[in-house]
Formats: sequence, structure tokens, C-alpha cells
Amino acid sequence: MELQQLKKRYESNGRMPAIFLGHGSPMNAIENNEFSNAWSLLGEALPKPKLILCISAHWETKGIHVTAMENPRTIYDFYGFPQALYNMKYPAKGNPGFINYLQEKLPEYVFNADLAWGLDHGAWAVLSSLFPAADIPVVQLSLSRDLSMEQHYNLGKSLALLRDEDILIVGSGNIVHNLGMMQNVQEGFPWAVEFDMYVANLLKSGSEARLVNYLDAGKAASVSVPTSEHFLPLLYVAGARNPEDELFFINEGYVYGSLSMRSVIYT
Ligand code: ZN
Repeated sequence: MELQQLKKRYESNGRMPAIFLGHGSPMNAIENNEFSNAWSLLGEALPKPKLILCISAHWETKGIHVTAMENPRTIYDFYGFPQALYNMKYPAKGNPGFINYLQEKLPEYVFNADLAWGLDHGAWAVLSSLFPAADIPVVQLSLSRDLSMEQHYNLGKSLALLRDEDILIVGSGNIVHNLGMMQNVQEGFPWAVEFDMYVANLLKSGSEARLVNYLDAGKAASVSVPTSEHFLPLLYVAGARNPEDELFFINEGYVYGSLSMRSVIYT
């Protein structure tokens, strides 16, 4: 599957892709590097959605929250970075009515309208490469601390129907994310590579439901996912998989030894 075929897939099946982006450092938003360049190419290859629903590692709440403001602010939820990053703005519109639409489609869940959040860097630091014109409305869905791994995955499954409504589901996190183990090295640490490959193989074999039991991978899993928030967005995207989807990866690779940048595209 080549990136250029994404639009053709959409034209033949009318279904938006679902994508998980390994976001890494916020600096990717202002640097031209292999990761941000790959996101740009992905953005050019994607069909244009009517709305982006973003599930970011950086928004955890009690209960499930959905942004419902007209103009979400750009949130600088990081410290000690160059001023250029704080000058970035991602002025995409929100969609205040989307939560009602979602509530109607998924009556088994309770969604809470949020007017205080906006777009955190898990969203804008990747969307600014993907859709630099910021001309597509973006709504964020929070990670509820009340849900189990399986419930997160099942919510992703329930969201799958949005793909047939021209809505692009974007999960933003990192499969391997251990900030405490970061070092200035080029290669991924062996446990990082082991877990990243374990996850890639589950996805390739259509065994994505087993992601909820990721600790089955043993020590490599617990070191790669010391806290679950960067891993959880992948459960939403894997849950939104359609049986007809093809799967492919971009940005396979590691930074600082302990972050996997792998991005996942279902189309
Ligand atoms: Zn992050």
C-alpha cells in the first residue's frame, strides 16, 4: 500500500482512514525532519474530511469530555521549549454541535461538553504538519480515567461508524513512551524495539483486540508503557478498524532510545 493510494481507497469505499500518529517531541511542530515531513506527505495523500476527531495522550479527564467551543485555543502544555514553539498557532475551528451528534449516535455513552480545553500539543503539533491550512474543524475527545483498557478499545469500536460520515479519527500518542529512560542515542533500546514490534505484529495479524492485554508482552511492555496515556490513543484507532481496511505504517523508528515514532494508518 502506497501513501498515494489513500485517496483512491476513499473514492472506492467512501470511508475515511483512521490514523494513529506517534507524536514524539513538540519540536516536530517547528522542525523539518523525517517525522514532520512524513506527516506532511500523509496530509497531502489523505482525503479531506469534514471534521477531525482527535484523541490525544495529553487530555485525561474524569468522564468522557468532548470539546464544544467555536474556536479552540492552541494550548502550550509543555515547558522549557524555544519561543518559536510558543508562537505557533493552530487556528482550526471547533464544532459546538458535534457533541450532540455524537451523543445521538452513541447513546450508550455519556459525553460531557467541554468549553475550557482547546487543542493540546498532541493535536496541534501533528495537525499543523498534516493540515497546515487549519481549514478543517477539530474536536478533541478526552481519555477518561474511569475507563479500563477494554472500555477504551470498545469506545474506539463505537467511533468506527464516524469514518463513514467523512470524519477522520486521529489518535496521537506514542507506542513506546518512557521519558525517564531517554538518552541521546540513535537506536531504540532493545525493550523498546521488542514492544514496538510486538504491537506492530498484533496489528498486522488482525489481533488488535489483544492490545488491551499489552502486558502479556512482559517486561518490555511495562518499561515501554510506564503510564498508559500515550498508548491509549492507539486503542481508539485500532478499535475503529474496519475488517476491509488495509494497514500500513509510517515513521517506523525511535528517538532518544525510549520513544517509538511509529504511525499507523488504516484505510
Ligand atoms: Zn506526548
